[in-house]
Amino acid sequence: MCAFIRKGRILMRLIDLSDAMGQIRVEFAGCNMKCPYCVHIHQPFKEWSVEDVVKFAKQSTTRNVYLGGAEPTLQKDLLPLIGALDGIGKKVILKSNGMKPDVLESALPFVEGFVLEIKAPLEDIQAIMVLTGMSEERSKKYVELLRRSIGIARQKWLRIWIRVIPEFINLKTVPTILSELEGVSEVMLYQFMSNPEFDLPFMGHEGPTPSWAELKKLGGIIVEKVPQVRIVGDAGKTVMKK
Ligand code: SF4
Repeated sequence: MCAFIRKGRILMRLIDLSDAMGQIRVEFAGCNMKCPYCVHIHQPFKEWSVEDVVKFAKQSTTRNVYLGGAEPTLQKDLLPLIGALDGIGKKVILKSNGMKPDVLESALPFVEGFVLEIKAPLEDIQAIMVLTGMSEERSKKYVELLRRSIGIARQKWLRIWIRVIPEFINLKTVPTILSELEGVSEVMLYQFMSNPEFDLPFMGHEGPTPSWAELKKLGGIIVEKVPQVRIVGDAGKTVMKK
């Protein structure tokens, strides 16, 4: 039995629970950041018990489970859920903003991999403040915690996803992010505003930006450092390999 399972009915707040295209997606509500372009922190939620989510997963032949949403690590009962999913043979990918490295460390033996986000060069605290809605002190702490989280997560498969908002992620800033990508399995470059379900307009951007050509140039720099770069935007998807 999973070490994290405890007695009693445990409730978690979910934005959505779905099973499609080879992946069960558990999207949690709530986040400890206030990113001004975030759709998910404004979405309604329902309460589900760990048992009901595990039952949902168990009834499906889909093996891959993605735990995302807003921020999964805020759920007190995330670890019992991960342990139970692992116990029924599911392959769990855990997404996080990286603010709770201790939770990632506890989850490490039971997950297949992680997804963490880098929002801007981690030295640029002013940019981090704008992008997360957090104070200077909290932004500095976040950078420290995110670096710890990356160090833990790269022991497994690790995707770093980068939401390309051109004022912060561009040809000038990307080279300063490369040192954070040591040991990362892949980077996903996501064109800002290319999926209205993911983003709210921000800094005057109301449609997909930057251009696909610009994304490919950024990918060309990053792929020198990591095995592959996945680019996602209004022109579709492409993968660049080293
Ligand atoms: S973008 Fe991510 S880190 Fe920011 S508020 Fe939304 S879920 Fe949280």
